[in-house]
Amino acid sequence: FVHQLADESVGMDQLLRSPLRLEAMPGLPLPPALYGAQRQNSLGLDLAVDAMRAPLLQAHAATPVPPVALAETAQVDAQVRRALAAHPAWDGLPVPERAQRLRSAADRMQDALPRLAALLVKEAFKTWGDAVAEVREAVDFLRYYADEAVRIMQPVELPGPTGESNELRLASRGAWVCISPWNFPLAIFTGQVAAALATGNTVLAKPAEQTPAIAAEAVALLHAAGVPADALQLLHGPGETIGAALVAHPRIAGVVFTGSTPVAKAINLSLAQKDGPIVPLIAETGGINAMIVDSTALPEQVADCVVQSAFRSAGQRCSALRLLCVHEGIADAVIEMIQGAAREQVTGDPHEWRTDVGPVIDGEAYENIQRQLTRLHAQARPLLPPGDQPPATRLVPPQAFEIADIGEVRQEIFGPVLHVVRWRGDPKGVVDQLNALGYGLTLGIQSRIDTRALALAARAHIGNVYVNRNIIGAVVGVQPFGGEGLSGTGPKAGGPNYLLRFCAERTLTINT
Ligand code: GLU
Repeated sequence: FVHQLADESVGMDQLLRSPLRLEAMPGLPLPPALYGAQRQNSLGLDLAVDAMRAPLLQAHAATPVPPVALAETAQVDAQVRRALAAHPAWDGLPVPERAQRLRSAADRMQDALPRLAALLVKEAFKTWGDAVAEVREAVDFLRYYADEAVRIMQPVELPGPTGESNELRLASRGAWVCISPWNFPLAIFTGQVAAALATGNTVLAKPAEQTPAIAAEAVALLHAAGVPADALQLLHGPGETIGAALVAHPRIAGVVFTGSTPVAKAINLSLAQKDGPIVPLIAETGGINAMIVDSTALPEQVADCVVQSAFRSAGQRCSALRLLCVHEGIADAVIEMIQGAAREQVTGDPHEWRTDVGPVIDGEAYENIQRQLTRLHAQARPLLPPGDQPPATRLVPPQAFEIADIGEVRQEIFGPVLHVVRWRGDPKGVVDQLNALGYGLTLGIQSRIDTRALALAARAHIGNVYVNRNIIGAVVGVQPFGGEGLSGTGPKAGGPNYLLRFCAERTLTINT
């Protein structure tokens, strides 16, 4: 053990054992909620979801997935004009009044939890645990941004010479375009829209084509809570036509986008080339997210965190773990435990209560993942059995492959597929290799040496670093979420700086 540590450039003076994360156990008090009704850690959430089983299943039986009408590209101009016309009245409301309407939408969403969760299971193929967590996250976004708008939109008096007063205030920008993904069709959709509305902007929302009904439900709740119809308009349709027409419109004030890096770059280019003002873009994209495990880490904890981070939500989170970098001294033990833990995962129908890994979103996603798996089977050492699910189910059982070098991972595979690489020597070199990949979304560090974990975290060009825990499920207001480099522009969703980008800053100087 000591020999291994010498190999990892750790002096004995650094051998400070940090406490491992205490998992909640039935009967232990759960941490108090910050936002949302009952924000709990993963096991607490599972217990709470179990307690809701009857209403959830009842809602499932009673909730159809309603069809939606597609927008026409020819309507886009008229809709943007309506959003602009609605802007003065919405912007003119006192900030606390707008915030109150968003809080009312949060209450309505919380009351509608069983129906919304059922829709997430039916339309987005979420597992029940993920569906309930997502409704809570959407509620959190509404309440958090309502509070934040009230906090930041107060004018600030600045010092000046005698005979002069100076004031800085934030103002809304106009009509924002919100383009959201299918993987969090309620939470990310609601977060983007709530941020723009809270700051006095009006919104043209273009949800993912795969999940229109859940977006329509969210919009209906916001309208019922007092957001005027023209201040929040929904446009269903493909990104290539409707999304592109919105982005290219000369009078929009900003774009917030969550999705792939190439699409974010295409939006940026389109914004730069069109007529009209210089328009801000907030982009949150993907990542090649890693977990660095040193020889002092606890294999049981690592295996649990890896299974949660890599396979939960069928790996369809931009925060999900793609690359496990494990010290060669404990690699065999860790791999064996991951194999055991992955075998316990139930891959199957999301409507079933016991399912851990549901289907991937659509046939195109399934085909993409299969192509990558074929390549990996030819080039890398498989660590988990492939499973034999018929393609029609779109089920991908958890997969893991051992590779020789971090540089072999070139792109994000948006599914339950993990790469494992062994390292030796100084873990700072591992961080440098990860930085060189150019992405910067999430990173896990598993070590019982506090000084090392902090040093590695400080060296990483990565937005969200998690030490000795899983790397998914950032909580609004607690773990502001978002990356850098190829992973996005910032500011971080669910953080105290997010709303600033939705605002213009205005300074007023008066000679008194
Ligand atoms: N915020 C989510 C998390 O922390 C991920 C969001 C995404 O996949 O876009 O897991």
